[in-house]
Amino acid sequence: MTDAPAPPVRVRFCPSPTGNPHVGLARTALFNWAFVRHLGGTFVFRIEDTDASRDSLESYDTLLDVMRWLGFDWDEGPEVGGPFGPYRQSERYDVYADVARRLLEAGRAYHCYCSQLELEERNDQARAAGRPPGYDGHCRQLTAEQVADYEVGGRRPVVRFRMPDSTITFDDLVRGVISFGSEHVPDYVLVRANGHPLYTLVNPVDDALMEITHVLRGEDLLSSTPRQLALYDALAEIGVGSGQAPRFGHLPYVMGQGNKKLSKRDPESNLLAYRDRGFLPEGLLNYLALLGWSIAEDRDIFSMEEMVAAFTIDRVNPNPARFDLKKCEAINATHLRALPAAEVATRVAPYLQKAGLLGDEVSSDELATLNAVAPLISERMTTLGEAVEMVGFLFVVDDDFAVDPDDAAKLLDSAGLDVIRVSYDALTPLETWDTVTIEAALRTALIGERGLKPRNAFGPVRVAITGRRISPPLFESLELLGKERSLARLAAAVAA
Ligand code: GLU
Ligand code: ZN
Repeated sequence: MTDAPAPPVRVRFCPSPTGNPHVGLARTALFNWAFVRHLGGTFVFRIEDTDASRDSLESYDTLLDVMRWLGFDWDEGPEVGGPFGPYRQSERYDVYADVARRLLEAGRAYHCYCSQLELEERNDQARAAGRPPGYDGHCRQLTAEQVADYEVGGRRPVVRFRMPDSTITFDDLVRGVISFGSEHVPDYVLVRANGHPLYTLVNPVDDALMEITHVLRGEDLLSSTPRQLALYDALAEIGVGSGQAPRFGHLPYVMGQGNKKLSKRDPESNLLAYRDRGFLPEGLLNYLALLGWSIAEDRDIFSMEEMVAAFTIDRVNPNPARFDLKKCEAINATHLRALPAAEVATRVAPYLQKAGLLGDEVSSDELATLNAVAPLISERMTTLGEAVEMVGFLFVVDDDFAVDPDDAAKLLDSAGLDVIRVSYDALTPLETWDTVTIEAALRTALIGERGLKPRNAFGPVRVAITGRRISPPLFESLELLGKERSLARLAAAVAA
């Protein structure tokens, strides 16, 4: 034990901008963020974009956009800068070239001239002889003549890291003590023959230079940890970084359908789809938190503030977590129901705008309608996007109003149209247009005088007014739509 004060906690979230961001990525960001916010440390957002064939600017923009949508704030990184920048690895090639050169000079890395074919042949031989495959150290001690021969022959070397010949043991924050025997961790490539640095180099170098203290990441990266720890040791020797390796914690796998690992390509992986459907960021994050963490026994619903206040690594479960879309939806719906009506209105508006039901500028009348309808629908929605179908009838231009053909076929038959005619006559004389008066008039005419069952009475009216069988409550809907528009829709249903 030393009495030195613990260094301030620094974590990093360091995705590669390839394809669409997926839920696994968001889960990793969330756990890092909650961990570091709980401890009052620094959240570093770094972009690992050194794979030009797979990275794209579009993915980069989307990544930032989604991070902001989810509500993550970062203390250092793109757009905010920070003392260890730049935070895009594509802007740091000089740094990596310099470190690679120093590792070579210190003898912690070496030039390897083996061709792909030679490596494969020797791997096959190793397998045949019952030895573990992997790089065999062939170029560890090349003589000057051997090097000259390779060079004359036109070969360009890769830079390979010299792994120590000892077992590497570390205490994983989630999984406890883990050991890797040296025979399972062969020397590995840091820099390609064309001079391009690989993830194996750039990721630990930046973790060292950015003074990262804790690495929380997916279990799929567990096997790179012994290599990174060995490299850290070499970096300390050549004076790169603080000399103190980070603690590692590997988050459990997330399983999808059929107990297979959830893959980037599974449709339920696509983060953008959640935003498009109108998941609340806090609802989605609440669900993602449960993929490996729990706030308490028997408690599923919590806010991000509560998560931050409670988050500790020792409640992270090493066992695989199962992704359950139904549960994710149910949790989102719970968050939605808890929102104040005005907040639902504000959050629904962009979805109506996107559907063309509201313009860029929302008028005060439209806003009033939205505020009035919000409490009627928040109980009935799983996601905000469902509001489009549910309240579209209030905002649609009357000429564009259309009744769902299936619902019309079922409910606007001759009996249904008869109901509509009676309703039209019952509503026409009303001088007060509010829910209570509308309900009384329709009940008297349809149930009292005609003896209809409520379902047969109100179903056709609902379809004629809202265009669908599923809508906000009927009498409120009529009030919100207004007398003139309501009567016009009833008339149009009969005329159709
Ligand atoms: N850029 C790497 C990835 O997205 C980061 C891995 C790590 O956290 O070390 O997989
Ligand atoms: Zn070699």
